[in-house]
Amino acid sequence: MRVLLAEDDALLGDGIRAGLKLADYAVDWVRDGEMAHLALRDNVYDACVLDLGLPRRDGLSVLKALRERGNALPVLILTARDTSTDKIAGLDSGADDYLTKPFDLAELQARLRALLRRAGGAAHPVLRHGEVVLDPADKRVTLRGRPVQLSAREYALLHDLLLHPRQTRSRAQLEESLYAWGEEAGSNTVEVYVHHLRRKLGADFIRTVRGFGYCLGGESP
Ligand code: CA
Repeated sequence: MRVLLAEDDALLGDGIRAGLKLADYAVDWVRDGEMAHLALRDNVYDACVLDLGLPRRDGLSVLKALRERGNALPVLILTARDTSTDKIAGLDSGADDYLTKPFDLAELQARLRALLRRAGGAAHPVLRHGEVVLDPADKRVTLRGRPVQLSAREYALLHDLLLHPRQTRSRAQLEESLYAWGEEAGSNTVEVYVHHLRRKLGADFIRTVRGFGYCLGGESP
């Protein structure tokens, strides 16, 4: 899962980024509204955490431009302004959720999970395909009820595939969701993680779509 974080407060931004990285998100962090606008225009993200009070361009204007382009990216706004007017303006401009500063990092993570789940069309918090179950709240994966140990990248790849159960994901899409700016993806990394996941979850669990990418194999019950 790749997240754009737009926050100009260095201490807060650093804390949020560290917390999201611990939860295995790939995080791109920008510190002003113009950079946020360009990043959202030029990259594919799974979600955006957007401060409203940003230098160079206000968060609301960034959000409005995003929605005017028809982009339905889940956006959670952060606001120091504890007035209902700001929250209403944010929601009316296309935000999916908001948090008022100061907030608890665990709550930010829970709200992001909820946004990503809904964006994937799943109302249920637990993702399931065949006999594999992934619980994003505690990052637990089970196969036929037994826990499966996955590395952070394997987990992230599996999470991405389960969030898009009826889609073929291209290698580029999967790489984008695994790596933030400045993180070097090796040439075969997605293949390597798919190989590991097949070994742990079953050879047919992930299907190769030749020349394009991967999708979940078999039928979901
Ligand atoms: Ca700010």
